[in-house]
Amino acid sequence: MTKLIDSFGRGHRDLRVSLTDRCSLRCTYCMPHDFAAWLPNESLLTTDELITIIEVAVSQGIEEVRLTGGEPLLRPDIVEIVGRINSITNAPKLSMTTNGLALAKLAKPLVDAGLERINISLDTLDRERFKKLTYRDRINDVFAGIAAAREAGLAPLKINSVLLKDVNEDESIALLEWALAEGLQLRFIEQMPLDAGGIWSRKDLITADQIFADLSERYTLTPVDDRGSSPAEEFYINGTKDVVGIIGSVSRPFCGACDRVRLTSDGQIRNCLFSMGETDLRGTLRNPDLNDEQKREAISRAFHQTVAEKLPGHGINDPGFIQPVRPMSAIGG
Ligand code: SAM
Ligand code: SF4
Repeated sequence: MTKLIDSFGRGHRDLRVSLTDRCSLRCTYCMPHDFAAWLPNESLLTTDELITIIEVAVSQGIEEVRLTGGEPLLRPDIVEIVGRINSITNAPKLSMTTNGLALAKLAKPLVDAGLERINISLDTLDRERFKKLTYRDRINDVFAGIAAAREAGLAPLKINSVLLKDVNEDESIALLEWALAEGLQLRFIEQMPLDAGGIWSRKDLITADQIFADLSERYTLTPVDDRGSSPAEEFYINGTKDVVGIIGSVSRPFCGACDRVRLTSDGQIRNCLFSMGETDLRGTLRNPDLNDEQKREAISRAFHQTVAEKLPGHGINDPGFIQPVRPMSAIGG
């Protein structure tokens, strides 16, 4: 039972943990192409610091932890992190969002360490488009990663796709056909303004309505009831049990059901992707004047304070909305 309840009555059960701001791709919607200001190593939380924060969060009712980044598989200690989260008393459900590049090597060790669920991001099936979108020629590593994840027993395997105008906006049906043939669960995500002033523009947004309309030209989509706190509106495909998800983060915000808190790789907690403020936990953890119990108490208080300050919505559609200065890759998607 979560104790993290905000002033609008929303209980918080889901912690998104960014393990690093670094990435092996440069997706245009996630970071500016010339982005090179990685955090210095000493700014990143150590494994022990991460585990302490997650233990405190779990003691306050966090039930699910999703590891993300940047690219979480770039953390050299990723298998150890997964194993240690699984050993926490009342271990949370554990999942990961990854670009999949390193999964061919890591899927099996991660599953052995206790990873239960995975989302792999892939926006196009075309090698040239992948290069244009990510500035790296590595689509085959993603396919190899998907195969390895399947072989390691991760199920259901979910694929996240962002559609961009004039890049891959025409690929929704091809992506869904492929996902169905491969037994993957596809979710389209509307592009959010999180590229630190890069390419996002409202007029170019491929909206949830547009995606639904495009898919409906080929498939009969029937809404799945009971969305819970999931951001994805899900639809059964052609009367089967197969589903496709559409996440309309911008045009159909789901803030009213949001149950998430975020931890950045440099130890800041945020109550929203779009919050302008962060609360520093790293300084607390590294404060030589505090003992372990005092640190845990301070971290617990910080979680409550952060949740208490949460606004009713992300504000993207409000007049005067300003993008966070840190890109998605740094905040943790
Ligand atoms: N590197 C990993 C990956 O790509 O899956 C994890 C981090 S990434 C920030 C997590 C998810 O956020 C990915 O599915 C990515 O497509 C999505 N994402 C990144 N920038 C986004 C944006 N501006 N709008 C919507 N989704 C975005
Ligand atoms: Fe890297 Fe993921 Fe961002 Fe792409 S979406 S640049 S893979 S963090």
